Amino acid sequence: MFIDRFFSIIAGDIDQWLILPVLYQFGWMEWEELSFDWALICVYGMFAVIVTYAVCWPLEALFPVERWASRKAVGVDVLYTILNRVGVIPIVSFLLFYQLQVVFTGTLVDWGFVPPDLEMWIPALFGHPVITFFIYALILDFADYWRHRLSHTFRAWYALHALHHAQRQMSFWSDDRNHILDDLISFVWFFVIGLAIGIPPLQFPLLILLLRFIESLSHANIRLSFGWLGERLLVSPRFHRLHHALKAAGRQSCNYGGVFPYWDMMFGTADFSDLYLPTGDARAPEALATGGYLAQQWTGAKMFLTALGRGFAG
Ligand SMILES: [Zn+2]
Ligand SMILES: [Zn+2]
Repeated sequence: MFIDRFFSIIAGDIDQWLILPVLYQFGWMEWEELSFDWALICVYGMFAVIVTYAVCWPLEALFPVERWASRKAVGVDVLYTILNRVGVIPIVSFLLFYQLQVVFTGTLVDWGFVPPDLEMWIPALFGHPVITFFIYALILDFADYWRHRLSHTFRAWYALHALHHAQRQMSFWSDDRNHILDDLISFVWFFVIGLAIGIPPLQFPLLILLLRFIESLSHANIRLSFGWLGERLLVSPRFHRLHHALKAAGRQSCNYGGVFPYWDMMFGTADFSDLYLPTGDARAPEALATGGYLAQQWTGAKMFLTALGRGFAG
């Protein structure tokens, strides 16, 4: 595909002029084989951020739900996005995923066991990459629904997830504002599933990036619904905003789905009301809402430890 070749050329340049010289300088030649893949992940990440910005920024400017006098609280969300999509975190996760998959696969093969992949579970998929891709997305999104729903069920886990909900100025940058421990849990969660259904390492970040474009859009400060049918096919800004709505008395938590609303419909947690409510978590300390990156991480970690001390279920 043209776009793949385009990304490879840019990644090749970054690798040749930026990464390899650093590796040679410090004598880290053992990473040489993987350095092109790192560059490729950064290029995919940059592309995802640019596309998200190009689509969401004009929509937020034209059809905002809220107008803010100051956008200061949005700044930290931009930092979360860059770190999560272009920076350190994709490289670390990819390295971990790659290394762990090599070890895991090697061990299984030693035991005389062939590691599974989706086409092995469903042989009819063989030779239909687009359908296979869509099924991968469904499985990962189903797993994400339960990860997210459980993070609202356990008190200690919610102490971490509260950082995501504390934002009152929710925008398309807000998807990545998560506690680093919460990111770590997600990584392990998806890693196990990725191994069970056998996503090849390089397809894994690309798949995640595509799904996450929808997730960025769903956080955007846009008065946008996809219509009766569209709302039931894909998570919209209106649908996810209800999940982030400030909890008024008697209002149930709803709309946990990240990309597809099917799981909310299936498990009775969907709310399709045509409402655009203010967002935030009234119980979260102010540092979680408007503090800087380190203040948010520190406050989240303290809340997590306190909640653990009080017992896990809550
Ligand atoms: Zn949530
Ligand atoms: Zn969210």
